[in-house]
Amino acid sequence: MEKNCDYCGVHAHHDEHHEHEHHHEHEHHHEEHNTREQLRLIIITAVLLVGAVIVEHQMALPTWQLLLVYLIPYLIIGHDTLKEAAEGLLEGEPFNEHFLMSIATIGALCIGFLPGAETQFPEAVFVMLFFQVGELFEGYAEGKSRDSIAHLMEIKPDYATLWSKDEGGRSKEMTVAPDEVKVGDTIIIKPGERVPLDGVIIDGASALNTVALTGESLPRDVAEDDEVISGCVNLSGVLRVRVTKPYGESTVSKIIKLVEDAGEHKSQSETFITRFARIYTPIVVFAAIALAVVPTLLGGAFSTWLYRALMFLVVSCPCALVISVPLTFFGGIGGASRRGILIKGANYMDVLAKVRTVVFDKTGTLTHGKFAVTAVHPDAIDDHQLLHLAAHVEHFSTHPIGAALRDAFPDEATDGCEVSDVREMAGQGIIAKVGDREVAVGNTKLMDAIGAKWHDCHHTGTIIHVAINGTYAGHIVINDQIKADSAEAIAALHALGVNRTVMLTGDRQEVADNVAKQLGLTEYHAELMPADKVAHVEQLMGDGLAFVGDGINDAPVLARADIGIAMGGLGSDAAIEAADVVLMDDKPSKIATAIRIARRTLAIARQNVWLAIGIKLAVLVLAAFGVATMWMAVFADVGVTVLAVLNAMRTLRA
Ligand code: ADP
Ligand code: MG
Repeated sequence: MEKNCDYCGVHAHHDEHHEHEHHHEHEHHHEEHNTREQLRLIIITAVLLVGAVIVEHQMALPTWQLLLVYLIPYLIIGHDTLKEAAEGLLEGEPFNEHFLMSIATIGALCIGFLPGAETQFPEAVFVMLFFQVGELFEGYAEGKSRDSIAHLMEIKPDYATLWSKDEGGRSKEMTVAPDEVKVGDTIIIKPGERVPLDGVIIDGASALNTVALTGESLPRDVAEDDEVISGCVNLSGVLRVRVTKPYGESTVSKIIKLVEDAGEHKSQSETFITRFARIYTPIVVFAAIALAVVPTLLGGAFSTWLYRALMFLVVSCPCALVISVPLTFFGGIGGASRRGILIKGANYMDVLAKVRTVVFDKTGTLTHGKFAVTAVHPDAIDDHQLLHLAAHVEHFSTHPIGAALRDAFPDEATDGCEVSDVREMAGQGIIAKVGDREVAVGNTKLMDAIGAKWHDCHHTGTIIHVAINGTYAGHIVINDQIKADSAEAIAALHALGVNRTVMLTGDRQEVADNVAKQLGLTEYHAELMPADKVAHVEQLMGDGLAFVGDGINDAPVLARADIGIAMGGLGSDAAIEAADVVLMDDKPSKIATAIRIARRTLAIARQNVWLAIGIKLAVLVLAAFGVATMWMAVFADVGVTVLAVLNAMRTLRA
């Protein structure tokens, strides 16, 4: 298994591969094969080592013959390491783990030829052997955590069932790889199968299990015309689905890519470790040289001090840090994704852990963003006409308000009225031509902008004013509902020490006040334009500010905040792109969960750093004073790595 970190030759695999799914599979296979090979070499070497020790004790061989006996297992297990060390040396980058292990073991082999020194042959073989055991374990742990991320998420579909009709009109099914399906194709999803691609149901009804995507265990009912998202599991009915996105752009591919790319954004701890390792290793190597030379010059026995120096080299490899810290973050990202929280990089873990202010968008974030019309107050025309015009103007709008107004006038699509010149003014509303009339639908700001004389309403709720050719025509009152877990989300944040929770909204003061009181927010600002939201966020920035939005109208704010958290709306593209963290199930309570996961991940990373540095320093001191043995040195190196990796893997668990 090839490994290479910036410093010590161990690279976290997830940084490099997986551009392609096939590649991944191939890689995986390759890895497994190598692991088995490595295990075989380890066993053979162990047996030969025991044999060599018996030979040493049974026959009184001269030193050089004994060396030959030990060289057999040494070369079997060490040839790769020796080769890598030589390559590093030739490339002018000698300070890697292979080099350290090579000189330490060659030194141990040679030490027995010094006058008055004991032979250290078994030690030399054992160092190489154990070094390989450590490598094997790292490879295993890394593969395992990557697997478990893929597995925990359990979202990757293996196949799709393509449905078509032959000439005779009989339906035909064909099993193909998901990436062979094209947009517009029809696929069949049977109960128990995973939804392979995003699409729209054209026939059938069922319940979908979205737990792998959202962490939500309650099934979601779907029927004809509903969207289905790849990665869910179909529970009850047979579905026929028209595919709307190619596999590469489907939700599953996006999530997998997102989690895999997350490794590229390094956390502060990772960058620190890399920098630390770069300084630390040469220092230990030079300390080792000094330890061998200086006391000898002062009259010490060269063989004794050389032995101690060699131990320095064995201990000096910072693999435990270099492997376990990135693995910790990778595990944390995996553990979060299992709960429907996609974190785009380890660097965002640092920020999340330190969040002190959380700023929320209202519509679609704290509220469902599903408005219902509660009153219609026309001025000059009748109810029906007012709703008719509003629905037409909103024909192309993706804003939740648009959807509500369209729903209130269901005949909109069929009455044949022409809609043209649609201008959407973010934070204000929409102006469009319906037939030959120019109709404006929006808030009071929009009415003021076009000079329509609006008047207020006694109803509570969001008020959508309508003007025809610049003349006020009445308003429609719509209401939204607060999400069930919004209040709990705010309370959980306060409990975590987030002391400022702020709501920003473009909606009316009255509505904002009502929501803020119900949720226990520490402050709110209403009637804001999208640009005002950015300004407010900028003003609040300072100590760890998270902005939470739904990706509609608030992408600039998501980008500006220290950390942008988006409601993923089960795969909303805008949100997934703009944010640093995506909450797949739109639940604001997941923000506190994300912060908790980030803090725990950081704590585990910190434990690993101190564990590794602490134990190594202790052994270095013991080695310098001649208390430690080569055996202890190996255990300090490999043992700490193993412990740290095990600790890192705790992050995968909830
Ligand atoms: P929020 O901050 O609540 O997410 P927005 O900034 O998206 O709200 O919109 C602010 C206000 O602008 C809305 O409350 C509404 O009055 C008006 N508005 C925005 N988009 C539309 C639209 N498509 N139709 C009518 N009114 C709209
Ligand atoms: Mg919004």
